[in-house]
Amino acid sequence: MKPPGRVSLPVLRDPLEGALRRDGSRVAMMPADVHGRFDTRRKVVFAMLITLWASLPWLRVGGNPAVFLDIEHRRFYLFGLTFNAQDVWLLFFLVTGVGFGLAYATALLGRAWCGWTCPQTVFLEGVYRRFERLILGSRDTRTRAARSPLTLSRALRYGLLHLVYVVISIGVAHVFLSYFVSLPVMFRMVRASPGAHPEAFAWALALTLVFYGNFAWFREQLCLVVCPYGRLQSSLLDNDSLIVGYDTTRGEPRGKPSDASAGACVDCKRCIVVCPTGIDIRNGLQMDCLACTACIDACDEVMDKLGRPRGLIRYDSLNGLEGRQKRIVRPRIALYTALLVVGAVVATTAFARRSDLEATLLRLPGAPYVVERGTIRNAFELHIVNKRPTRETFVLGPAMDLPSEVELVIPIRELTLEPMGSQRVPVFAIVPESASIRNLTVRVEIRRPSSPLGTAGARVATGAFLRPNP
Ligand code: SF4
Ligand code: SF4
Repeated sequence: MKPPGRVSLPVLRDPLEGALRRDGSRVAMMPADVHGRFDTRRKVVFAMLITLWASLPWLRVGGNPAVFLDIEHRRFYLFGLTFNAQDVWLLFFLVTGVGFGLAYATALLGRAWCGWTCPQTVFLEGVYRRFERLILGSRDTRTRAARSPLTLSRALRYGLLHLVYVVISIGVAHVFLSYFVSLPVMFRMVRASPGAHPEAFAWALALTLVFYGNFAWFREQLCLVVCPYGRLQSSLLDNDSLIVGYDTTRGEPRGKPSDASAGACVDCKRCIVVCPTGIDIRNGLQMDCLACTACIDACDEVMDKLGRPRGLIRYDSLNGLEGRQKRIVRPRIALYTALLVVGAVVATTAFARRSDLEATLLRLPGAPYVVERGTIRNAFELHIVNKRPTRETFVLGPAMDLPSEVELVIPIRELTLEPMGSQRVPVFAIVPESASIRNLTVRVEIRRPSSPLGTAGARVATGAFLRPNP
């Protein structure tokens, strides 16, 4: 019995299996279609994810798209919240949260992300490959066709398939772009000639080519040679993580169904022909396994036909597959959970403390102070940004706790700002030369007309008052 510890990824496969040969050249993958409980569930998940992705730019929350990254104006809209360039630091929580969430999910559920939710899988298996099977036929038909001379009918089918790929890629590229360009602008651009917006047209063309090239040709190579997540798998999984695995104890030795001394595997190789990366899961957990579950459905089909129990290939942990005790809660998961909770609390606090009104009191360039007729004067500029998605009016005035000897001159006492609009207002702080105030901080309060002075919703901009040394 193996001691529990780090997962080992054996390289046991036949040199002719898999999507890449040992010399690095590519084997064209033509996975067979498969039907079963996981295939049905994956289709539902794919349809939901594609619908959600395509509808987010159309959904409006608080008058703005649910998700809109307005690069041109450096504004970001996220489910009713508005962010500008000053909020970029919050991205730290987003990026680390996604990265850590992925590590956590992998430790618990293995490569569930790859098999169920990664856009590469969702679009390749849920859209492009479906049309391929519809137009070119089953794996057997395509394999036979690939070995025989090209006929006119087949050439037409290939032409139609690639036309469909291009049309889908154009659609995917435009939906993707609508996250960065508002929908009205997008529609205007689509109706106008490409010469009227060459930059946007170039982006749409480049994205279409990228999506077409990836989903029509590059395919599984993105997962096998480009994506770093798959390469990190061995350090993220442990012997209790959920994986797609083959039950060697039950399956070996392989043999004919009629052979009473053989295990449950009849060596039909159906699990290999349905695999999108062409690997043999019976060789153990491999980095090329995307946990797509196609081999589970394929083997269950075979077991059903033979009247044997399902689950020769199944979702299980390495410990489970090798007959050891399975654990969900383990030190790694406990540590990850604690870190996740701490991260979530810090991120929630940071988001909650983020104000939808930005106000900064900046010293004007030039002399730091002016001494005149028995007073000392400092000149500032108040910069206000309305980060709400609605038009807002603000009232400006001295903060309540400002010493009575300090006179604040604010020429504009009330102003209205458009969503994400900003304005600069001059502010003069005047103090009698005779006043014995030291280390004075000038405080300007910005509030909405409905809120009284000094309320929690008000924002105070501060700046240091400078005076000549005594
Ligand atoms: S599908 Fe099942 S029975 Fe057939 S080769 Fe694979 S593991 Fe063996
Ligand atoms: S081995 Fe099974 S789960 Fe892994 S990629 Fe191949 S078919 Fe999918």
